[in-house]
Amino acid sequence: MSDCLFCKIRDGEIPSNIIYEDENVLAFEDVNPQAPLHVLVIPRRHIATANDLQAQDAPLIGQLFLAAKKIVQDRGLAEDGYRMVMNCNEQAGQTVFHIHLHVLAGRIMHWPPG
Ligand code: 5GP
Ligand code: ZN
Repeated sequence: MSDCLFCKIRDGEIPSNIIYEDENVLAFEDVNPQAPLHVLVIPRRHIATANDLQAQDAPLIGQLFLAAKKIVQDRGLAEDGYRMVMNCNEQAGQTVFHIHLHVLAGRIMHWPPG
């Protein structure tokens, strides 16, 4: 998607602080962090929302979670706890329409979220 912000980050057209990447997954720091660690984990392939996921995307979604876990573990924050969340569409607050797993760690989280 040529007009997608996260495809541009993936392609290096927009700078970001990339902290993890592999064949299928990319992770970079959120530009407006909501916790001491706030990382966005995305599939390299453009998928607009969770509503667009297909059965064959199941391994890819698993890879997002495994990448998130590795990042938090590598920072030594996993045992204290962390949050992983994916917003879908406007009512949930999705603003960038390329799916991304928010990974937040390093502070106490409250529930329910707003
Ligand atoms: P959403 O609201 O779609 O769930 O999350 C989008 C996230 O992308 C927000 O947390 C926002 O701070 C982040 N974001 C928006 N623009 C940029 C950008 O240009 N670079 C980075 N690294 N993050 C961005
Ligand atoms: Zn995209």
